[in-house]
Amino acid sequence: MQRQRGGLMEREPRTDVAPGRLSPEAYAAGFSDLHPGFEPNAARVEAERCLFCYDAPCATACPTSIDIPLFIREIAKGQPKAAAKTILDANIMGAMCARVCPTETLCEEVCVRHFSDGAPVKIGQLQRYATDALFDAGAQPFTRAEATGRRIAVVGAGPAGLACAHALARAGHEVTIFEAREKPGGLNEYGIAAYKAAGGIAQREVDFILSLGGIVLKTGVALGRDFYLETLRAEYDAVFLGLGLGAVNALGLDREEGAEDAIDYIAALRQAEDLSALPVGRRVVVVGGGMTAVDVAVQAKRLGADEVTIVYRRGEKEMGASGYEQELALTEGVAIRHYARPVAVESGRAIFERTQIVDGRLAGSGETFDIPCDQLFKAIGQALDPSGVETIDLLGGRIKVDDERRTSIPNVWAGGDCVHDGEDLTVVAVEDGKRAAASIIAALVGPGRFGT
Ligand SMILES: Cc1cc2nc3c(=O)[nH]c(=O)nc-3n(C[C@H](O)[C@H](O)[C@H](O)COP(=O)(O)OP(=O)(O)OC[C@H]3O[C@@H](n4cnc5c(N)ncnc54)[C@H](O)[C@@H]3O)c2cc1C
Ligand code: SF4
Repeated sequence: MQRQRGGLMEREPRTDVAPGRLSPEAYAAGFSDLHPGFEPNAARVEAERCLFCYDAPCATACPTSIDIPLFIREIAKGQPKAAAKTILDANIMGAMCARVCPTETLCEEVCVRHFSDGAPVKIGQLQRYATDALFDAGAQPFTRAEATGRRIAVVGAGPAGLACAHALARAGHEVTIFEAREKPGGLNEYGIAAYKAAGGIAQREVDFILSLGGIVLKTGVALGRDFYLETLRAEYDAVFLGLGLGAVNALGLDREEGAEDAIDYIAALRQAEDLSALPVGRRVVVVGGGMTAVDVAVQAKRLGADEVTIVYRRGEKEMGASGYEQELALTEGVAIRHYARPVAVESGRAIFERTQIVDGRLAGSGETFDIPCDQLFKAIGQALDPSGVETIDLLGGRIKVDDERRTSIPNVWAGGDCVHDGEDLTVVAVEDGKRAAASIIAALVGPGRFGT
């Protein structure tokens, strides 16, 4: 197509979105483990850097309160499986969290080794070493308490639902998990960047959790479509909702030709058997400033995009992606442009307006610019899909819960991304599931009843 501009005939930029941009070796290298695991000697040497602090700040900073000095001491003594039990006792998804936790803003940020020798103990890497050792051995360190005869329904097989189900099954309850997708794992399976979850770790972890027994998993069934909250409340002693955020925020532009949802694209990437079959733009633009924006940008680059630009409406400090994630994007050759918001997306270009802060509020400046663009990803956040939970009180668009994760409806608990209180992190979802399980156990049979 041609168009007239300033008296000259210009060729309309054509979009270039194609599969197979790289060699098989380049795909394999780009999507292998971001940080390969420790060898035993390296793990011991790293463990010996730990000062085994009393009142360890690293453990306080962990949302699941893992006894970090204890598990590191166990690694130092050459007992990685014992270390894994210490970890999993507090965080049943310790294997995935070892790979995806932003440790630089949690445990490692406060490690006292920062002050003594400028670098924290590599807590995440050590956690991975221990949990990998246990999974490789096929060991199951937990047992179930005597059966209580109580039945609990868990909706959603993401980190929150799985953590809740495991703690309940350990305490002797019978749990049924209802999951809308074909595979369990939630965003561990469909969302986390492929190079953080290499080697099928998401499904290995689910298998490990289910191998405890007492948990029946039903997939392909959705609350609000195939079954309803009132039926669950009638048939089970308690219900836990770990629904995540199933709806995606819209850009709200008049022209959004070809704008794609980053979450859907990442899910397709995570499920792709052959990455070379996945089309990617030559020039990719990502709108957003969080972890999803960085993940889709880095993965587009690793799929062979020539130019990838993240555009965020505010400044660097306001970005949801951590400093480490932003650094990763820049190292991969992704450009990050701040203070701009999209105006229109059309064939071959995205049009942005520069933004500014006026009286403390974000405002458009009226000045626009184009970025050549074959593929544009929206990564501007997700929202709760209220289907099936219309009768529950919400707060800020998410399910309202108290400290124990009880909702406004009797015998219904909720946790993870779908609730109003907390950060959208895997480790926080696990803690929510654990906290709700403790509350359910206390409500059904009294406090303090757990398996070993
Ligand atoms: C792209 C991306 C990258 C991320 N990267 C990181 C990272 O590196 N580190 C980190 O800590 N966190 C990361 N997160 C956040 C983290 O994945 C979430 O905080 C975590 O998965 C939340 O767990 P959850 O169980 O609450 O929800 P989810 O993981 O979303 O699981 C919810 C489950 O419920 C199911 N479900 C939903 N509705 C229904 C229904 N009506 N009926 C039945 N089942 C239903 C869903 O199919 C899903 O399986 C990332 C998130 C995204 C989107
Ligand atoms: S803060 Fe650092 S040195 Fe202290 S116990 Fe934790 S990991 Fe070890």
